[in-house]
Amino acid sequence: MAAGFRRLGDGVGMSSTMAELTLRGLVKNYGPTRIIHGVDLDIKHGEFVVFVGPSGCGKSTLLRMIAGLEEISSGELRIDGVRMNEVAPAKRAIAMVFQSYALYPHMTVYKNLSFGLETAGFNKAAIDERVQRAARKLQITDYLDRKPKALSGGQRQRVAIGRAIVREPKLFLFDEPLSNLDAELRVQMRVELSKLHADLAATMIYVTHDQVEAMTMADRIVVLRAGRIEQAGTPLELYNRPANQFVAGFIGSPKMNFLTAAASTVSDSMVRLKLQGGGEVSIAGPIAATTASPPVTLGIRPEHIDIADGGFPMAVNLTEQLGGNTVIYGTLANGQALVAQLSGQARISRGDKVAVRLPADKCHLFDAEGRSLLQQ
Ligand code: ADP
Repeated sequence: MAAGFRRLGDGVGMSSTMAELTLRGLVKNYGPTRIIHGVDLDIKHGEFVVFVGPSGCGKSTLLRMIAGLEEISSGELRIDGVRMNEVAPAKRAIAMVFQSYALYPHMTVYKNLSFGLETAGFNKAAIDERVQRAARKLQITDYLDRKPKALSGGQRQRVAIGRAIVREPKLFLFDEPLSNLDAELRVQMRVELSKLHADLAATMIYVTHDQVEAMTMADRIVVLRAGRIEQAGTPLELYNRPANQFVAGFIGSPKMNFLTAAASTVSDSMVRLKLQGGGEVSIAGPIAATTASPPVTLGIRPEHIDIADGGFPMAVNLTEQLGGNTVIYGTLANGQALVAQLSGQARISRGDKVAVRLPADKCHLFDAEGRSLLQQ
């Protein structure tokens, strides 16, 4: 099976207006096991939405429910206001691009692109126009006569994307399409997919486990965990105001540091924290009214930590000189590990003792259940 059911049927030729999606209480059960636990989400016309989360959190399942490749156990999916639960994949005006390319190996690139349109009864001239236009957009015009095996991975993925484009769908679904490509090509394709989105002005949903991919391409990121939405927002909303410790730890690289602390003084606008093992930090509010009950977790991103006299003493275990910045792995007096990232080439090396400062306005605060205590 080269492509099997990868081409989502014959739903070609439908209007290329962008789709708007409404997901209400979507649930997926496999036998007695619930995989998706009631997802509510609205996706706007022309939005580029990225589903991100660790492996097994249900991203692909949710995408396949939208595509119609998985039955919806309960809840409702609407595309442009029309209930889709019982509509066959081919009739949903969707095109899906997979990690595995799923090209027909015995067909040329041209034929791979044109095949679906032929099946749908398009005339030769219309097919040629669409194929040539897609090929130009994706810079694969020179390869139209080749078979897939004579293409690089990146070129194959372009053909797979081209096959989606020629169908002029209302909605593009991407399931980890760049995972098989090497790092350099992934970066290049990220940029190209973003351009393509702007160019086609189409609604796109993109699944990845890579938070950098999500941050760089999304209009809006939906963070999933164990079949539930943890938070949905623009990349910077998630970076600046994560709703909980899971999102805080998932978005951003290197990861946010988490330090156990006790809240000693709390007011409407300020909380004073005693770090486990010594040291105090004040965090500016506003703090959620529920605060106070210790212990709490202080979160600070590596790039927000300063090395400054008067800070907490830290022993340096390892430094990474990346040229543009320096990553420092250290241990605080209480034994807690801490990662700091300084811009530029810091003259700090293993075995050094430094002092770290945690700027109050950059600190995050989470309760024992991991919920953010800083009001959004
Ligand atoms: P992700 O795409 O986030 O890695 P998936 O959507 O593929 O996650 O899977 C979510 C969960 O559903 C996983 O725990 C997986 O084992 C389970 N799952 C997926 N498909 C099936 C199936 N056909 N039967 C039973 N469980 C499944």
